[in-house]
Amino acid sequence: MNNYDQKFNDAIKNTNFSKLSLSEQKFIKEKAYSLNFSFQEIKQIIDIARDLTMWDEKNIIDIFPTHEQKKVVITKLKKAYQKLRSTPNSYKNFKLKNIPKEQKYTFIISDKEGFGLGLCPVASEKTRCCNLLTLDAVESCGFDCSYCSIQSFYNQNIITFNSTFSDKLKNLELDKNKTYHIGTGQASDSLMFGNREGILDALFEFAKSNPNLILEFKTKSDNIKYFLENNVPKNILCTWSLNTKTIIDNEEHLTASLQKRINAARKLADKGVKVGFHFHPIVEYENYLQEYKEVYQKLQDTFLAKEVVLVSFGTLTFIKPVIKQLRERDFKSKITQMPFVDANAKSSYPHATKVEMFKSAYNNFKDWQSDDNKVFFYLCMEDHSIWKESFGYQYSTNNDFERDMLSSYAKKLNMEFLI
Ligand code: SF4
Repeated sequence: MNNYDQKFNDAIKNTNFSKLSLSEQKFIKEKAYSLNFSFQEIKQIIDIARDLTMWDEKNIIDIFPTHEQKKVVITKLKKAYQKLRSTPNSYKNFKLKNIPKEQKYTFIISDKEGFGLGLCPVASEKTRCCNLLTLDAVESCGFDCSYCSIQSFYNQNIITFNSTFSDKLKNLELDKNKTYHIGTGQASDSLMFGNREGILDALFEFAKSNPNLILEFKTKSDNIKYFLENNVPKNILCTWSLNTKTIIDNEEHLTASLQKRINAARKLADKGVKVGFHFHPIVEYENYLQEYKEVYQKLQDTFLAKEVVLVSFGTLTFIKPVIKQLRERDFKSKITQMPFVDANAKSSYPHATKVEMFKSAYNNFKDWQSDDNKVFFYLCMEDHSIWKESFGYQYSTNNDFERDMLSSYAKKLNMEFLI
């Protein structure tokens, strides 16, 4: 074995080289030898090859530049790859692969230390944040959204319930002189498991015994059976994460369809339960602004402003472990085919793209921004500079944001607002 054999074999360790097709492996190896690629260059080329496959684009052999100088080859290859990243995606000819047809997971009930009440896991002082508290009633999610960071925290095939959740909730003392906003939809989907292990019984009881609490259930499901069969305390809010049909069909696997989500929200609003909607992530692709506009309009045709507490907007932000996990999966997704820029140590869209999508979103809800029943709009996990350009106003601190949000929510829920 010559020196380069050793170097090449070391370079492909801990990469997705073996997941590439045999022809791609053979091609990359030949090019590595003939152009004497470095350790890092070999890794980069494997990642590029993996992304092209996942994005259902041409493969590495098709786009590989022909030149005898390595420097020229690498420069041209990176340029071709960046061009594919920065051109808005098209899902027209996109063919899904290895998408799970049904939810397969194991339920585990264990007595976990503590019970997962804490500040929103993605909150930061670097972004304008609402100081949401999150409560992990369940760990991990049965849905399979390609962009979701939960997959990098938990094993997706194991759903964990906390055997002492209900007792711990009963013993939790909140300050009676303060309004709290707690959400249960961060570490899992709030409704997809219904009242399994009595989690909804416990949470409804928690809401009843804490009238100064705004308890938010966030979901992509239409599993509202428990809410239809039980009295829902007035300080409970049900919110749906929505997206266009294009993104739901291609990137939000196993979730309820757009129409099923809207129908479920409509049924709860008919029962007097206040609802809300999260457009997070808004994804850029060909004709995306028009497709989102149609969903925004569908909401305003289906709900009255007085029934809706909030509408939030956010977009894709990736942490490295999620990108790594996506590259390891043998499936198709276009979700990382986007021009990545650094956004507070995460990867996201350029500033201008964000302003375009958020401004369009906000401007499409003009009817819900005036009069007494106005809905509370906010950007989730965004740099504070984007607010002014998108909404025309901004908060100078996270506490100001939280205060304005909770006073608006309390008013819509007919609750007293306690600072
Ligand atoms: S704005 Fe979003 S990320 Fe920030 S605390 Fe609120 S929910 Fe969490």
